[in-house]
Amino acid sequence: MSAANLPARADVVIVGGGIVGCSIAYHLTKIGITNVVVLERKQLTSGTTWHAAGLVGQLRATRNLTELAKYTTTLFEGLEKETGQATGFKQNGSISLALNEGRLEELLRGASMAKNFGLAIDVLSLGELKERLPHYNFEGVTGGVFLPKDGQVNPIDVTQALAAGARSRGGKVFENVKVTRIITKDGRACGVETTSGTIAADKVVVAGGMWSRELGRSVGVNIPLHACEHFYIVSEPIDTLPRNMPVVRVPDECTYYKEDAGKLMVGAFEPKAKPWPPHGKGIGIDEEHAFVTLQEDMDHFEPILTSAINRVPLLETAGIQLFFNGPESFTPDVRYYLGEAPELRNLYVATGFNSIGIQSSGGAGLVLSQWIKDGHPPMDVNGIDIRRIHPFQSVTRYVHDRASESLGLLYAMHWPYRQAETARGVRRSPIHQYTDKLGAVYGEVNGWERPNWYARDGVKREYEYSYGRQNWFPCAEYEAERLMNDAVFFDQASFAKYHVEGKDALAVLNRVSANNVDVPLGKVVYTQWLNERGGIEADLTVTRLAEQKFLVVTGAAPQTRDMAWLKRQAGDANCVAVDITSGLPMIAVMGPKSRALLQMVSGADLSNAAFPFGTSQEIEIGYARVRASRLTYVGELGWELYIPAEFAAHVMETLLAAGPEFNLTPAGMHGMNNARMEKGYRHWGHDMSDEDTPLEAGLGFGVAWDKPGGFIGREALLRQREIKVLPKRMVAIALEDNGPTAPMMYHEEPVYRNGVIVGSTTSGAWGHRVGRSLALAYVKNEGGVSADWLASGTWEVELAWKKHKAKVQFAPFYDPKGEKIKQ
Ligand SMILES: Cc1cc2nc3c(=O)[nH]c(=O)nc-3n(C[C@H](O)[C@H](O)[C@H](O)COP(=O)(O)OP(=O)(O)OC[C@H]3O[C@@H](n4cnc5c(N)ncnc54)[C@H](O)[C@@H]3O)c2cc1C
Repeated sequence: MSAANLPARADVVIVGGGIVGCSIAYHLTKIGITNVVVLERKQLTSGTTWHAAGLVGQLRATRNLTELAKYTTTLFEGLEKETGQATGFKQNGSISLALNEGRLEELLRGASMAKNFGLAIDVLSLGELKERLPHYNFEGVTGGVFLPKDGQVNPIDVTQALAAGARSRGGKVFENVKVTRIITKDGRACGVETTSGTIAADKVVVAGGMWSRELGRSVGVNIPLHACEHFYIVSEPIDTLPRNMPVVRVPDECTYYKEDAGKLMVGAFEPKAKPWPPHGKGIGIDEEHAFVTLQEDMDHFEPILTSAINRVPLLETAGIQLFFNGPESFTPDVRYYLGEAPELRNLYVATGFNSIGIQSSGGAGLVLSQWIKDGHPPMDVNGIDIRRIHPFQSVTRYVHDRASESLGLLYAMHWPYRQAETARGVRRSPIHQYTDKLGAVYGEVNGWERPNWYARDGVKREYEYSYGRQNWFPCAEYEAERLMNDAVFFDQASFAKYHVEGKDALAVLNRVSANNVDVPLGKVVYTQWLNERGGIEADLTVTRLAEQKFLVVTGAAPQTRDMAWLKRQAGDANCVAVDITSGLPMIAVMGPKSRALLQMVSGADLSNAAFPFGTSQEIEIGYARVRASRLTYVGELGWELYIPAEFAAHVMETLLAAGPEFNLTPAGMHGMNNARMEKGYRHWGHDMSDEDTPLEAGLGFGVAWDKPGGFIGREALLRQREIKVLPKRMVAIALEDNGPTAPMMYHEEPVYRNGVIVGSTTSGAWGHRVGRSLALAYVKNEGGVSADWLASGTWEVELAWKKHKAKVQFAPFYDPKGEKIKQ
């Protein structure tokens, strides 16, 4: 469409005519939002889309992401018929090969997950694999899986088809129109300035591929991504190459193979990628960049090529027709960004596709269009929600350094508890020097270095990954013993904290919280924040510090998200929320000896009468004033100590000096996770999300049904309360096998009742205090999930294609009456 016809106004302006921008336009017009404009600075697909390999896989790490990838395949299947535009869609399936036992377990665990998500998948014997891939060398192959519904497309054609679909319903697509500025007013995006004029818009979507970070930054929106060079080669035509060859992945060799018009394409996901542009030259991409190809780098690609020639000997004689190197953007956690930016209302983001933008495009378009229409996503997409990031993550050097690792992670081993290796040491607790001296092995969450476990008794101070018990198992066991019998401390500086105050603070917080926060001063309230549908948006504690002043404490990961939610609900009320995370680290002292220890260092009376559970007081530790809150996430007596940052080292020293008498031991986040699992304490992001309600999650005890003024989500919850026995409930699971080789559960494993899949695990851990492999899971039954229904079934959990007998119940497996906490 000619730029001269640019409209003055649109409901939605989409910046970027790649596959994602066009998919969003396609889906918006499909749900009735037809006054949509796509603006592309050059030609459609001229960013990254044009050179994609076009693989369309379906299995992702979670059910909803898999659903979305599945949807993309279904969409592509019918697109040609709908639009008359060819898409090159072919559904030959895909095969992944393992070259070692660890990878085989990964594939088999993935296969069980796929089964759980309703994806067709086969675990193939070596004989069957060889039959399907006669041209492959099977040296070193330990096994493989086949996903028959995986496919491939021509990305340029699909993009044109999506654009055609959008146009046919009234959408407008302009090429050679560059957005030069996003127009904002009163904290909202309200249009764009372009090289051909201005368009006013209700909503603006940034779908600008690797250019998105700069565009976001120009209006204060953080979109951390960085491009990397991404390689493949295409062989000369090979007569004997079967046209129906499935896509083949050999992740242990970082390679994938695709038949492409009689030629073989070999692509790479090497462990150390090359960020582009290289560091020092900034991230800006030149004006003339369109259909960019980068310099070939044979030295870099050679190890890949060598293993490819070994794996497919036909390549030795075929000759290389094309050596391709093109840029694609990668994000620090290798997940893309979707949703409304927390910094700017009406500005939506769909970018950072980490080399799976083609297979994600359909699902991303579907979700974002509904998000724009309804103001919320149609399903739990927490893993890809733009609100998960912390602003520092868009710092140039950080995205650059992490991108070099992100690319390779697509094919690296997805070990449980795997930690990032690049761009580490960014956010450190004020007591980091002490935990470091004590042998902490750190994990990273949003830049925070958090002690995950402490190396002791000769255990090497680094992770040795596996799907079973990792090397830190005995260290965590020791920490659990001390937690149960003595006292431990956790460095929880990373937990996000906000001060909320103003003359409407109570009214706002009470409307946002399902529990009642209109409580006496010094009371701590555990609560969820719900959406209108009753789904859990946040899970946190609120402590009343003064009539109109509160301390909100939430996890490290939702720091940005929870603040954005609160601010949104507060609107224009007289209520100010300030993130004080950096200034208020927290040390939790837990275990039966915690009272005696803290009484000794503080001189305060911490008896049940003077300091009941669920209350908070200021106490003195050494020379410092500290806010102590009697709470627990590990199921033992204990206090959380909130310490002004500059006093934290002193408080730590004071605790350590007094510690030996009480056997005070440092404990890590893995220990905390194990302990909370034994107690069945839910974790937001795993065990609860915006599509689970407190009643389903078993958190109805924290709902203040009748508090004055009600709360967001009450009406939806009241409707659900009418149902006597809910059809979906969270349960606690313990495997019957509690021997030394008992397998571990992690997430999304299928749960069977009487041989039929009825649920899915949401998180898992080893419970040292109960000596069992544990998980939390949602199970479903149309007739209701009752205690009788649980008790009358035979339960199993499938791990790595094998079923294991399990015990399933509502109550936690450790201290179900909570007596330990009240001692
Ligand atoms: C070598 C290689 C192989 C790949 N193989 C696969 C694969 O097999 N399967 C898969 O799923 N994915 C694959 N990908 C990834 C896939 O290509 C990308 O994830 C996807 O194309 C991203 O689409 P997009 O629409 O987000 O970005 P782009 O295609 O980059 O589109 C963004 C568009 O925005 C435009 N734009 C930017 N700023 C402005 C502005 N200010 N005004 C107007 N327009 C603007 C740009 O010109 C660009 O056209 C591969 C990538 C590479 C590099």
